[in-house]
Amino acid sequence: MNTAAVPPTLGPNAPSTPSPGWHALPHEEVAGRLGVSPAGLSVEEAQARLAEHGPNALPEPPGRHPLLRFIAQFNSALIYFLLAGALAALLLGHHVDAGVIVAVVLINAIVGFVQEGKAEQALRAIGGMIAPHANVLRGSQRVSVHARDLVPGDIVLLEPGDRVPADTRLMRARGMLVDEAILTGESVASAKREEPAPAEAPLGDRHSMAFSGTTIATGQGAGIVVSTGARTEIGRIGKLIAEVEPLATPLLRQVDAFAQRFTWLAIGGAVALFLFAVTLRGYSWTDALIAVVALAVGVVPEGLPAVITITLAIGVRRMARRNAVIRRLPAVETLGATSVICSDKTGTLTRNEMTARRLFIPEGAAPAEIAVSGTGYVPEGELSWPEPGDPALAAGKLLHCALLCNDAHLNVDGGHWRVEGDPMEGALVALAVKAGLSPVIERGDFTRQDEIPFDAAYRFMASLHRHPQGGAVIFVKGAPEAVLAMCDTPGEGWDPALARTAAEGERVLGFAMKRLEDMPERLRLDDVRDGFAFLGLVGFIDPPRPEALAAIAECRTAGIGVKMITGDHGATAQAIARQLGLAEDPQVITGADVDAVSDEDLVAIARDTAVFARTSPENKLRIVRALQSTGQVVAMTGDGVNDAPSLKQADVGIAMGRKGTEAAKQAAEVVLLDDNFASIVAAVKEGRTVYDNIRKMIAWTLPTNGGEVLSVIAAIAFGSIMPMSPAHILWINLATSVTLGLALAFEPTEPGVMDRPPRPAKAGLLSRFMVWRIVVVSVLFMLATFAMFELSIARGQGVEMARTIVVNTLVVLEIFYLFNVRFMHMTSITWRGVLGTPAVLMALAGVTLGQFAFTYLPVMQAIFDTRPVALLDGLMIVGVGVLLMVVLEVEKALLRHLGVFTSEEM
Ligand code: ADP
Ligand code: MG
Repeated sequence: MNTAAVPPTLGPNAPSTPSPGWHALPHEEVAGRLGVSPAGLSVEEAQARLAEHGPNALPEPPGRHPLLRFIAQFNSALIYFLLAGALAALLLGHHVDAGVIVAVVLINAIVGFVQEGKAEQALRAIGGMIAPHANVLRGSQRVSVHARDLVPGDIVLLEPGDRVPADTRLMRARGMLVDEAILTGESVASAKREEPAPAEAPLGDRHSMAFSGTTIATGQGAGIVVSTGARTEIGRIGKLIAEVEPLATPLLRQVDAFAQRFTWLAIGGAVALFLFAVTLRGYSWTDALIAVVALAVGVVPEGLPAVITITLAIGVRRMARRNAVIRRLPAVETLGATSVICSDKTGTLTRNEMTARRLFIPEGAAPAEIAVSGTGYVPEGELSWPEPGDPALAAGKLLHCALLCNDAHLNVDGGHWRVEGDPMEGALVALAVKAGLSPVIERGDFTRQDEIPFDAAYRFMASLHRHPQGGAVIFVKGAPEAVLAMCDTPGEGWDPALARTAAEGERVLGFAMKRLEDMPERLRLDDVRDGFAFLGLVGFIDPPRPEALAAIAECRTAGIGVKMITGDHGATAQAIARQLGLAEDPQVITGADVDAVSDEDLVAIARDTAVFARTSPENKLRIVRALQSTGQVVAMTGDGVNDAPSLKQADVGIAMGRKGTEAAKQAAEVVLLDDNFASIVAAVKEGRTVYDNIRKMIAWTLPTNGGEVLSVIAAIAFGSIMPMSPAHILWINLATSVTLGLALAFEPTEPGVMDRPPRPAKAGLLSRFMVWRIVVVSVLFMLATFAMFELSIARGQGVEMARTIVVNTLVVLEIFYLFNVRFMHMTSITWRGVLGTPAVLMALAGVTLGQFAFTYLPVMQAIFDTRPVALLDGLMIVGVGVLLMVVLEVEKALLRHLGVFTSEEM
């Protein structure tokens, strides 16, 4: 990678040394050497350089070697156990059994290998859906491009929460602190400046550079890309940014641990059984050993871990289709247990498509109201008011402030107006154009010298401009109370105007300005404390998302609490909450209220309050903790760099894919591609489905093993012939798990999943009812097996035929039991239940074909020692399956009638 051609534009010393000392050069010289103008690269030049340098990406992390991955499939206690069984069978001369065991182990490993590979691939593809973007200046236009497409010489704009996309020589750095822990291990953010750093400075002291992979903590700036891809510092130390998460979740670990314990128990049981058979039952020790091997292979649910992994991967894919991208696999399970969703308002519950509706300007004693017409960002509409005179002229200063203390641009594309930047700022640009101002002319006349960017912590933005008539002017816009606090004598009547506007759900912004005689070098926070003249208010509508309304109603039936946690004004938040049906009469608690109470008192407040307004990121963190302290499973949304701590603290951190910062995405478990609240609820629903399906899979698998084990034990206890050989047992387990078991992974959401309360976080995997079910079905399986075996023997059909019938019976029972398990929460005898899904039907076809082969194919007859079953016997076998179905439905009805289990458990 390092040998890639270095272009002549990189300077004379570039090819020989990995770092040509960009940090020690003045940025003007860096720009010169890289051939960059202040307008950035032209689009054509950027393309040419991309072809030359290749994409700005690190080489793919080398996945585990396929061979290693394959070998890892054998590394489990279950497999050792099976292989020990095979060895025992071989030593006893049961070559077929030994061969079948080894074959099963191999097939199992291959299935696991293929499925795991597919799952990993799917996860990686989904990860690509949230590839980072970078804001660059190209041909004087600020555009957002894929970080992969950056080239040396690009001018990138850096904002809080951004992940620096390439190694960059800073040309402007305002209050910029960068978290470089990933590169230097230093946890204290380092301050950045434009001045050259000493040539010999180590990485951590190159204050004129922003390095790829580090995160902007505060401040903003711009820089020239000097190296990309593998030539960046992070690329050179070979650290991988996008590491693939291992395919492990708490649930999978739980199952693994369970299997481990199970295995030891089985070994203990096997030894005991062996001794029992030899000493008390007078078995020859070879016969006893083969019985024990049968027991051992019967007890192991070989297919389960692989099938669970597949189910999780399917869940991830389904969620991605609903616009929720899972970054960490455990979130699939946690989402299903979510009991409270704490959501942002703007853009999540509302559309974040703002339109300025009205203005208030100081006019004599009281504020005067100006109405604005027009829809969306189309800059066409009228300003009107009851007073005589032109309202646009009267509001001139406010409109100037709105246009200049503003970073947004409006673009028209195909007759459709779009905002580049913040939607609210875009609405202000549209407003100014409606009033007859030209963004290009005004922004050219009042050149901007410096700014203090908007920060959710202080809730305003300020900008410093050269005044065309000499001197300077500072404009601020922000939350009205923050702006009013800077103004000397704002006058009366603003509070009622604000309250009235906010009560209608409008977002309200205040504006102010201050003239300065001389141009200061920098704009500091101290410059925006006092001495401002208040210019007025603007009210914006931001309609609620209709789909959020439906999603909130769904949460109510699903027992999931919804809390709105917003930085917006209390009255605005309350009005929107009411429109969304968040609560009958939503009570509002402000961030200041949260600050004033202790952690203990916050617990009750957090539980009972639906709307939190004017909150800070710290408030969010405390609210999550308070909710968690009562055992809630909390999903929390966030977008800013300051939201990272609360996203990490939440059980499910959800970052916004569109307006969220890279820092928030990195901290989150889930990224919402469309920023939409309804997508969170859809993901919760999928999460519940996944969990249901895993439970179904376990509930379906274990009775097979249980039935087989009980049969073996019973045979020994009664001193009768084994109804199945070890090879038969393995055949049943394998033939059913790769067909029927896998079909359960594809089960669609059961109707009514969102009509029951969330599962308690601490609840075990299996409810009391399910444990009972597993025991009952195991016993029924054993009884059926024995009855069929003895019946066949009594009819003089011989051991081989009797065993063939037993194997077929068990598989048929599995099939019928599958239909019973598919609907845990309702009766399975419905049209939907009988018809099944394509996956179920395919599995059914597969297993049927397998059984016919097992029974009638000469090769299989040779291997498994089977005999062709007569038609009438076949019908009898199916009859046993029907009988099981009836018995289980009756049992379910009976239990419900007696009230042995709660309806939730069933
Ligand atoms: P939300 O929870 O609605 O996303 P924010 O934290 O984004 O709230 O904003 C909180 C408040 O800060 C807003 O109500 C508004 O008064 C102010 N504000 C938001 N964006 C800007 C901006 N770009 N410039 C100035 N003030 C802003
Ligand atoms: Mg916001």
